[in-house]
Amino acid sequence: MGDNTERRKSKWNVFLAILVVLFAAASISIYIAPQLLFNVYADEDDFYGRVDQRFRSMNILPDVGRRVITYDYSNSAATAIRYDASNNEAMAVFRDQRIKELQKDFKDRIKEEESSRKKQEGDDLLYRPLQHVLLIDTAVYDSGTGALTLAIYTEEYSENESDQTMEKTDTSIDTWLMAKDDMRSIKPIQAMAPGYREKAAVFAKEYLNTTYDESKLTGNEATFLQDKDGNFDKFVISADTVAFFFDPGTVVDEEEGVIAVNMQRNYMGATVRNRIVDRFVDPTKPMVALTYDDGPGGKTERQILKCLKKYNAVATFFYVGNRVSSDPTTVKMAYDMGCEIGNHSWDHSDLTTLSAEDITEQMDKTNNAVSKITGVKPTVFRPPYGAVNEEVMDNAGLPTILWDVDTLDWKLRDAEKVYKKLVKTDKLNGKIVLMHSIHEETADATEKIIPMLIKRGYQIVTVSEMIKYKTGESPKAGESY
Ligand code: ZN
Repeated sequence: MGDNTERRKSKWNVFLAILVVLFAAASISIYIAPQLLFNVYADEDDFYGRVDQRFRSMNILPDVGRRVITYDYSNSAATAIRYDASNNEAMAVFRDQRIKELQKDFKDRIKEEESSRKKQEGDDLLYRPLQHVLLIDTAVYDSGTGALTLAIYTEEYSENESDQTMEKTDTSIDTWLMAKDDMRSIKPIQAMAPGYREKAAVFAKEYLNTTYDESKLTGNEATFLQDKDGNFDKFVISADTVAFFFDPGTVVDEEEGVIAVNMQRNYMGATVRNRIVDRFVDPTKPMVALTYDDGPGGKTERQILKCLKKYNAVATFFYVGNRVSSDPTTVKMAYDMGCEIGNHSWDHSDLTTLSAEDITEQMDKTNNAVSKITGVKPTVFRPPYGAVNEEVMDNAGLPTILWDVDTLDWKLRDAEKVYKKLVKTDKLNGKIVLMHSIHEETADATEKIIPMLIKRGYQIVTVSEMIKYKTGESPKAGESY
């Protein structure tokens, strides 16, 4: 019994000794690992080694394959940049300019900081510059849908004077979205369809809850996951990944730095548009529908169309059927621009005075005249004089569109007065505006109205687009709007 106890004891001691050794080894490696990341570096080679090591473990930007690191060593303000192998020349020029700005800003800032430290020391002999490092990680992503995204992520380190370790003092992220064909800068909503934020928010919420302890969350996450402008606007899209970035202190604690939420491209589905769109409707923003009756209006209507085109806007034109075949150029131009074409009867009759059969004939003849030119039948109907009853609506075969704002342009015949009438009408969101494309004064007024509406934040949309976004459904035949 005594022997056994002794033996067990000695075994236990050996075991303990091994444990102690293991623990010591483990703690040394644990102790060394973070220190190696950015302890104050001894010399240039030491700096290179530490930079390479940090870049290897940096994982904010989705991997894009081969990367190259360049170094700009200096004892007090060193920078290092990791590039991907992007072969897009124009993007590379743009990227390099951004990097130059970042480097300059960093060096200027450090210079100022150090000169004020030097002043405080009051003695050149006592002063030693602290070490500062800026790491810049950058990559370019091709969505395969016509969009290129550039991401630049930075980490800044500064020496802690008391124990000469390097402390991470700042992280930041910026992304740029461009059309691949001509490198014009585009907005998120041009590459992503409405609803993309909601889709991404579901994923991001789940990710945050499973990745971070509740104590690490700011409690403010909901604000930054909302479907509103400014949220989810930092992202990159590659062929297989979409990554959204969150600034420090927004969804998780400041000290966690920049957060990347990576999702499979197919999770986002059709909310990543299959091509860049130039005109798009953001359902969260105010919109107004301009409508023009009694055309096609020849030269004056083409003046209106030219203005719409200039501002990337569209309108709805309600044509009188018997005028259509004599002005095919204007009709085609309006249709090709994405304007909506409406039916305004065949000969501008008061349809409430006609039989069901005659109403149908008025509609059909106009539909045919338009589709002979555009290949497509009108999609909406406006009764002449706004004269409508159940019988007209039932026999029109198209959604009936009335108006909310009458500019009285046909009566005023004065561009300034028509313009002023709209300027004075606030809360135009969701409203349909009535004008006529056959008056020169209306065309002149349009040239002032459109920039004014855009300046006030309105999207200028077609009648059907507005009804769809405001009611959630496309306009229906037999209904009046
Ligand atoms: Zn009319």
